[in-house]
Amino acid sequence: MSFDAEAKMQLLFALRSRGVTETQVLEAMEKIDRGAFVTGYFAERAYEDMPLPIACGQTISQPSVVGLMTQALKVSARDKVLEVGTGSGYQAAVLSQLARRVYTVDRHRRLVAAARRVFETLDLANITAFTADGSHGLADQAPFDRIIVTAAAEDPPGPLLAQLRIGGIMVLPVGQSDAVQRLIRVTRTEAGFDYDELRPVRFVPLVEGLARDS
Ligand code: SAH
Repeated sequence: MSFDAEAKMQLLFALRSRGVTETQVLEAMEKIDRGAFVTGYFAERAYEDMPLPIACGQTISQPSVVGLMTQALKVSARDKVLEVGTGSGYQAAVLSQLARRVYTVDRHRRLVAAARRVFETLDLANITAFTADGSHGLADQAPFDRIIVTAAAEDPPGPLLAQLRIGGIMVLPVGQSDAVQRLIRVTRTEAGFDYDELRPVRFVPLVEGLARDS
């Protein structure tokens, strides 16, 4: 077996052992090659279960965290999903295998441009990526069946709650950016919002406004 094939198999094993057990999520992660989203110095570590640095001082999330968040989101094939925090595009690509349509936004124009190129190369035609401040959501495309935020805010941003369809689910890390944060799941009901706490996580902060270097 080639080095890459062996490394990919070990990654799938690591995902399972860390609680990513749903077949559809594992299949999506088997299909989407994380190696396509990590370039440069860290490329050879693409199949390790750890976060890695990407451009603009940001990170591609740890694969098992991507898997657990995707699982917690309970995506179905008819869903329109919003991701805040495109980063490398890896999470959006995994979601594209499970959802009807994925909108993803990042405040760094450079990251969005790079992610779009990868989506095109991999022929992931149901993802649309925009440069935008995702803390305002994406009013033009709302409401969303599912929202995932991959940067930490102190509280769930109001516009994102407002853009969640009734019955919809949002998964996001909350807490101070320099401390351990909590991953939570918010479900919108007829009456309001239900909150579940999932696990401790660590994400880069959700920052307001477009990046100046982008
Ligand atoms: N989901 C990514 C990892 C995201 S890292 C992946 O799979 O690779 C978090 C990202 O959130 C960073 O790229 C950062 O630029 C972005 N971000 C932070 N604040 C934001 C905001 N207000 N709006 C949009 N993106 C934001």
